[in-house]
Amino acid sequence: MIVTPVAKAPIALRKSVWFKVIPFDACNRLHYHAGPLYHSSSVALSPIKPAGRGDSRTTLGAVRSGEPISRKAAIELIRCSDTDVPHLLAVARAAKERFKPKAITYSRKVFLPLTNLCRDYCGYCTFRRDPGDPGAHTMTPDEVLEVTRAGERLGCTEALFSLGDKPELLFPEMRETLRCLGYKSTLHYLEAMCDLVLRETALLPHPNPGLLSAEWIARLATVSPSMGLMIETTNPGLLGAGRAHDNAPDKVPAKRLRTIEEAGKQHVPFTTGLLIGIGESVEDRVDTLLAIRALHERYGHIQEVIVQNFRVKPTIPMANSPEPDLGEMLRTVAVARLLLPNVNIQAPPNLSAPYYEELIQAGINDWGGISPLTPDFINPEMPWPHLEQVRLRTEAKGCELRQRLPIYPEFVAAITEKQGLLSQRVQEAIGDDCLARRAA
Ligand code: SF4
Repeated sequence: MIVTPVAKAPIALRKSVWFKVIPFDACNRLHYHAGPLYHSSSVALSPIKPAGRGDSRTTLGAVRSGEPISRKAAIELIRCSDTDVPHLLAVARAAKERFKPKAITYSRKVFLPLTNLCRDYCGYCTFRRDPGDPGAHTMTPDEVLEVTRAGERLGCTEALFSLGDKPELLFPEMRETLRCLGYKSTLHYLEAMCDLVLRETALLPHPNPGLLSAEWIARLATVSPSMGLMIETTNPGLLGAGRAHDNAPDKVPAKRLRTIEEAGKQHVPFTTGLLIGIGESVEDRVDTLLAIRALHERYGHIQEVIVQNFRVKPTIPMANSPEPDLGEMLRTVAVARLLLPNVNIQAPPNLSAPYYEELIQAGINDWGGISPLTPDFINPEMPWPHLEQVRLRTEAKGCELRQRLPIYPEFVAAITEKQGLLSQRVQEAIGDDCLARRAA
C-alpha cells in the first residue's frame, strides 16, 4: 500500500486533509479511501482551553528523565498550544527512547469475533448486533480453528478473541446457541475456545471479553498468557442519558477498574487503555491515565496502555459527533508517555493512517495487533496497513519493527516459570529477547 497525503502541512493545519490510500497489497486487501481524516471541528463536547505558551515550555523543561509527570503538568501539556506541540512530542519521544530504544513492536494476530451479540449499546459501536440483525454471528469451534490455522500459516502468534459482553443475560437466542454448543455461558465457551487454540495451534490466545470476576480471571489465565479490558474513561457522566455509555451497564468505570485491579491481584499481564473523543474532557483523559498508573504502581501488571481515537461511522448513534483531531491524538499519546514513562504505549495505526511517523514521534513503542488475514471487526472501514508499509514507516523514524507475542517480553517469565501447556506454548513462541521467535 502506498499512502499519498494530498497536502503536507504542519500538524496544526492537518485537521481537514484529504488523502488517498492506493492499494498495492498483493492480497488486494486494502482499497481506495478518501475523505476528511480529522474534522476541522475537532473537540468532542469539551473544548480545549489552550494553556499559555510559557506554561507548557516551563513544564516541559521541568520534566526529569524517567520520572512520571504530575496531574497538573499533564493537564497543562495536553492543553499546550499548537506552537508547543513539536516540543511536547520531542520530550515524549526522548522518554520512549529511554524506555525502549530503537524498537517498535507489533503483534501479528488473527481477530476472532467469537460473538458480536452484546448486552451493551455503546454509542460509538459498529461491532455489536442483536439476534436477527444482519451479520449477527457466533463463531463455531470449527470456524475458530479454521481462522487460527490460516493465521498460523501466515506467521501469526496471537489469537485475539473480541466479543460482546454477556449477551446471554439479555438474549434467549444466545442462551439457546450456547446450549446447542454445550456451554453454560459465553465465558465458558470462550474458555473452551482459548483452550482449543492453545492445544491445536501455535497461536497464543488473548481474550477481551468485558468485565470479569476474580474467578473468571483465574480461569482464563490458565488458557491465555495475557488478557485485556479497555477502561475507556473514568468519567461516569458518560453513562448519562444520550451520552456514549447510556444503556451500557458494563461500562461503569468503577466496575472496569475493579476487573483490572483483580487481574493485578492475580499477577495477570493486562492490556488496557483509553478511548478519546467520546464526550470526555481532557481532564478525564488525564484522570483515566492516572487511574491506570495507580493500579500499575500497586500491582505492576499493566503490560500495555492503548490510546485509541474515536472514528465516526454513519450507522452509529454518535454518527454526528466530531472525531478527535490529529493534534488531540498526538497530545494525548505524548502525555500518556510522560505519565507512564516505563509502560508500553500503543496506538492503532489504522485509526490514524497515514500519520504513522507522528505517532512514533509522540512516544508510542507499539502498533498493537496487525493482521495479515482478518479485518478489524471493530473498525471495519479502517483496514490495517500492510506490514511492509508499517516496517518502512517505522524505519524511517530510526526504529526497528519487531514482532512480539500477545504478552510483552517483561512479563514472559511470570508465565514460563510455571508448568503446563500455556508455559510450554509461550516458550516455543519466544526468541532470546522474549519477542516472537524470528523465522529461520
Ligand atoms: S463497545 Fe463492546 S461493550 Fe460496547 S456495545 Fe460494542 S461490543 Fe458491546
